[in-house]
Amino acid sequence: MSPLGAEPSIFSRIIARDIPATIVAETDRVIAFEDIAPQAPVHLVITTKDPQYRNVVELAAGDPQLLADLVSVARSLADERTNGQFRLVFNTGAASGQTVFHVHAHLLGVAESTADLLQEGSLGAL
Ligand code: AMP
Repeated sequence: MSPLGAEPSIFSRIIARDIPATIVAETDRVIAFEDIAPQAPVHLVITTKDPQYRNVVELAAGDPQLLADLVSVARSLADERTNGQFRLVFNTGAASGQTVFHVHAHLLGVAESTADLLQEGSLGAL
């Protein structure tokens, strides 16, 4: 389902398995997959199956439990992949760099097997 009159977002098409993605976690309301253009050694997209919220502000106002569920999936993935340490980014609005208007978080981090650090002041560069 899409917001009235809108084409399904690329993320809705991934959720529907219309287009492929490397899915790394899925619950009844949230799904996570590898970003196709990673900006950090670990770069996952975590999104809601419900496409009605365009950004985190709308999601927080409309369904705070779903936002908490999304953050919980982020924490679980980070526990598995980045030693529990991570950066969570919600681009909000085109001027912030948002290109997909279906709420999602970017989980950025480094693999737990390395000693690398994400630089402060960059999105995800080492
Ligand atoms: P944003 O720019 O915050 O809206 O983030 C959208 C993200 O979706 C970008 O980091 C893209 O690289 C990512 N993306 C776009 N298409 C795909 C896809 N088919 N599979 C995985 N990630 C994608």
